[in-house]
Amino acid sequence: MDGNGKRIELADLDAVRVYGIPMRNRFRGITVRQGVLLGGPAGWGEFCPFEDYGDAESVPWLATALEACAGDWPEPVRDSVPVNCTVPVVPPEQAHAIVAASGCSTAKVKVAEPGRPAAEDLDRLVAVRDALGASGAIRVDANAAWDVDTAVARIRELDRAAGGLEYVEQPCPSIDELAAVRRRVDVRIAADESIRRADDPLRVAVAGAADVAVLKAAPLGGVRRALRVADACGLPCVVSSAVESSIGLAAQLALAGALPELPFACGLGTIALLEGDVVADSLVPVDGRLPVPRRAPEPDPALVAAATPTADVQRRWLDRLIRVHELL
Ligand SMILES: [Mg+2]
Repeated sequence: MDGNGKRIELADLDAVRVYGIPMRNRFRGITVRQGVLLGGPAGWGEFCPFEDYGDAESVPWLATALEACAGDWPEPVRDSVPVNCTVPVVPPEQAHAIVAASGCSTAKVKVAEPGRPAAEDLDRLVAVRDALGASGAIRVDANAAWDVDTAVARIRELDRAAGGLEYVEQPCPSIDELAAVRRRVDVRIAADESIRRADDPLRVAVAGAADVAVLKAAPLGGVRRALRVADACGLPCVVSSAVESSIGLAAQLALAGALPELPFACGLGTIALLEGDVVADSLVPVDGRLPVPRRAPEPDPALVAAATPTADVQRRWLDRLIRVHELL
């Protein structure tokens, strides 16, 4: 681990609690978000790699949780961070309502859903602009759906419909494709999957291929390691969540709070995607901002008890925790 180098053994933990919280909408094919809360000597951490992640790929997630348990976050340079609202693939009226109710001045809009007509994306963006007003910022996320020519054509249309885009997140799968798109459009390009899924995020050459880097602490191995990735890529960064409970979200906020520059709103207003939480004082944005915590909030025993899954599910997560810890 980075930081002060203290390694936490599982036996050093004061508490290990498996949780499952239903999602309001299906996300990555799952309907219940699950993970393990770890109570360490200096605070709580959350280990919640997605279901389809293998043990090796889950190691950075555990490093992130144990960094929080060790109280090993860097000093923040700001007290709060602006967050965006997220607009899924929904009809224009619903998109308008989501943005209007959010209190956020930045909206992230999902586009390029396979099998859906491109015109729907345009209608959704018009509605989002209407709800945000001229001064708001609109970004879109294509989740690597396009080839280069399609990306160039779509980005130009989407930029017009939105009355200007802040950036386009991961229009194509590869770094080379991002670079080719970037040469042909005026809209900023953001790299997300290109960094997160890179074999070595410290070495991925996004400069020239992107204008913005999207970072998530958990898959990068913690707040301190994500700061090193930010430094290595040399681009303005946006911090985005992995749809954790407020305990895992606190680590993402610690990263957003410690980045030297934070020119864009972060994708951390995600607690509302879950039907509940494991802490009483959830990290719900107020007026489009979230506070930067010094440590994760304490779990609420009654909420944790209510979120405790079946013995089978608990066993599966504890086995996973032990296997991944052996790989640390
Ligand atoms: Mg993305």
